[in-house]
Amino acid sequence: MLKKKLNIIQVAVPTPLRRKFDYLLSDTINPDHVLPGMRVLVPFGRTKQIALVLGKSSKTDIDVKKLRSLSKVLDTAPILPEEIIKLLNWVASYYLHPIGEVFQTALPVHYRKKESALEQNLTLWRLTELGRESDWNDLKRAVRQRSILEQLKNTADGLTREQIANEQEGHWQAALKTLVEKKWVESQTVEPVLLKNKTNAEIRKNSSLLLNEEQQIAVEFLIKNGNCYSASLIDGITGSGKTEVYLSFIERQLEQGRQVLVLVPEIGLTPQLIHRFEHRFSVKIQTLHSGLNNTQRMKIWQQASSGEIRILIGTRSSVFTPMPDLGAIIIDEEHDISFKQQDGIRYSAKDIALVRANNANIPIILGSATPSMESLYLCQQNKMAHLKLRQRAGNARPPEVHLIDVRGQYLQHGLSRTLIDLIKQHLAKENQVLLFQNRRGYSPVLLCNKCGWISYCHRCDSKLTYHRQRNHLRCHHCQTEQPLPPQCPDCGHGDLSQLGMGTERVEKVVREIFPETEVIRIDRDTTQRKGTLQSMLEKARDGKKQILIGTQMLAKGHHFPNVTLVAILDIDQGLYSIDFRAPERLAQLIVQVSGRAGREEKKGQVVLQTAHPEDEMLNTLLTLGYSGFAKKALAERKELLLPPYAYQALIRCESNKIENYQAFLEYCFQVMSSLKRNGSVEKSVGESDIQFLGPVPAPMEKKAGKFRGQLLVQASQRKDLHRMLNDLIWNVEANKAAQRIRWSIDIDPQELY
Ligand SMILES: [Zn+2]
Ligand SMILES: [Zn+2]
Repeated sequence: MLKKKLNIIQVAVPTPLRRKFDYLLSDTINPDHVLPGMRVLVPFGRTKQIALVLGKSSKTDIDVKKLRSLSKVLDTAPILPEEIIKLLNWVASYYLHPIGEVFQTALPVHYRKKESALEQNLTLWRLTELGRESDWNDLKRAVRQRSILEQLKNTADGLTREQIANEQEGHWQAALKTLVEKKWVESQTVEPVLLKNKTNAEIRKNSSLLLNEEQQIAVEFLIKNGNCYSASLIDGITGSGKTEVYLSFIERQLEQGRQVLVLVPEIGLTPQLIHRFEHRFSVKIQTLHSGLNNTQRMKIWQQASSGEIRILIGTRSSVFTPMPDLGAIIIDEEHDISFKQQDGIRYSAKDIALVRANNANIPIILGSATPSMESLYLCQQNKMAHLKLRQRAGNARPPEVHLIDVRGQYLQHGLSRTLIDLIKQHLAKENQVLLFQNRRGYSPVLLCNKCGWISYCHRCDSKLTYHRQRNHLRCHHCQTEQPLPPQCPDCGHGDLSQLGMGTERVEKVVREIFPETEVIRIDRDTTQRKGTLQSMLEKARDGKKQILIGTQMLAKGHHFPNVTLVAILDIDQGLYSIDFRAPERLAQLIVQVSGRAGREEKKGQVVLQTAHPEDEMLNTLLTLGYSGFAKKALAERKELLLPPYAYQALIRCESNKIENYQAFLEYCFQVMSSLKRNGSVEKSVGESDIQFLGPVPAPMEKKAGKFRGQLLVQASQRKDLHRMLNDLIWNVEANKAAQRIRWSIDIDPQELY
């Protein structure tokens, strides 16, 4: 008897299960119409789910009688190319994350929606000329029509039905129809445009700047290695012209008909970089970031997939965007921790980009003034080329950096006498001063002077910060807010002290000491409204005598040509942390903040207030610079067998009761200990050195009402670590009790809490 050939389709279904699913293809569907990268509708439990086709086969491990048939094919062509499917498969196995959730995360929201929303083409509604010019006052009684017009007025590209529905109520559909009939509103269907390889003549808008010798060498090296996989680190001090190196290399890739993907930490904080790209090139450049709505994201995704967008500049999730002609990936400010996602799939966009470049056989370039230890380690191992830029462009001279010993000095609300005198000197020369304090609000602690009561958050193991302008206490971890108590809630005493300095308090003090000087404070509290950050930055850049106060937001990439004095008010918070990466982060912060000073012909000065001027790390940084510091820090990590000389994974768990997380982590610990004892790991790799740290409570055990614990697993071989964790997952998934708990695995954790 002739056996009929089976048509099995393997798919990723968005569920927390760490496996792929097989479905049968019924005779009604032509097998040639189902390709990897297409979406299909499948029965799943009692529901139907949108799944993504990963592959086809004629075999299955499941009993064929138990297999269900897929219901419907949703796409006529794959929405994901093979390259991205391969990449996402890697992501799922490396980060030990359910594959269905990985695909779900990588796709634009529109593609994840139920059948009704599944349009390959988007329909957008917008105002016509007629609609704009007509007198809307005639619509006094047609409230809904008027409301739709108002909504559409503010968009250039138009809105989808879904977006209109979000803001309209009642019978808005009828009103929209009337407006279309009146020709005040029109709809337009947006299709992925197929535009391939634009001609060379159109690439450049403005010519390149003159490169210095170091830049020239770097560009030549990159071009020489521009046609295959190569990883390069551009280790360039602030002002050394990294961006110009990127631009020269990108120009060459564009000339070859390639697309370029540029990953940046935060779009809002890198307007100058984007401006330089747009100034230089005439090809289509687009930015992709979290500030866009789903429709805009979808449009950009399609335009990148079709090849219309030639340069895509985006934040970490852009690393998943299909780009058929991708010819280079650039990661600017590669040391920035925002490239690591801290929830859901805890991926590192940097590591994924390295894998993607390798798979696609294209060059990848990482750039920073303060490279991460991981990247410097890869350079040591000759897995990454180390291109150093040590000259500052133009006449710029490096700033002088020194410490202010605050011990024994009277501090006027956190400002030492020495610092106040310095600020006066710089202001007297009509220059700008930047004060850096990485803490928002007025004061981080409220204390009763009689009984010692402290303003703790009742939902977290943390203190409430006093915000003076809003006159309330707020928790920066769970956003709980409460009014400022008029007296001590415990003893009723009226004498409450505000301890410590936030940016709001620095602003108040500075305004009191320098009443004549303009003060601009830039932090999350002052820049909540859209556009305020941009206008504040513009004001700061106009160069008038000013004092700028800011948090981390001011440390990144901005260029204030008239700032000649930069002061970090308190570096001691970062000196004694339990996290082994704290010195690296502090050194990066100091160098990045220092980089804001004296970038033009004016020489800058940088001062750091500390009560620990003898600190070895600080002194290494000040005397030998970042590269000297990095060398020492890497040697220390090697000695202590810490990443990048070892591999870590952090198992996190949270629950309503302490006992529950403890029991789960204890279970994990027992499972892994017995795996280690039984040699499932040893056998295959000889000497195994897996170590456990914990289970222990998280550094902040209680957060937003939940209790959290963690277990750190470390090994000198990555494959040992992965094998152990795979076995652990297998055990947990077979254990009913363990399934009820909220837990996660963080591979290569960047923060140990
Ligand atoms: Zn009290
Ligand atoms: Zn809280």
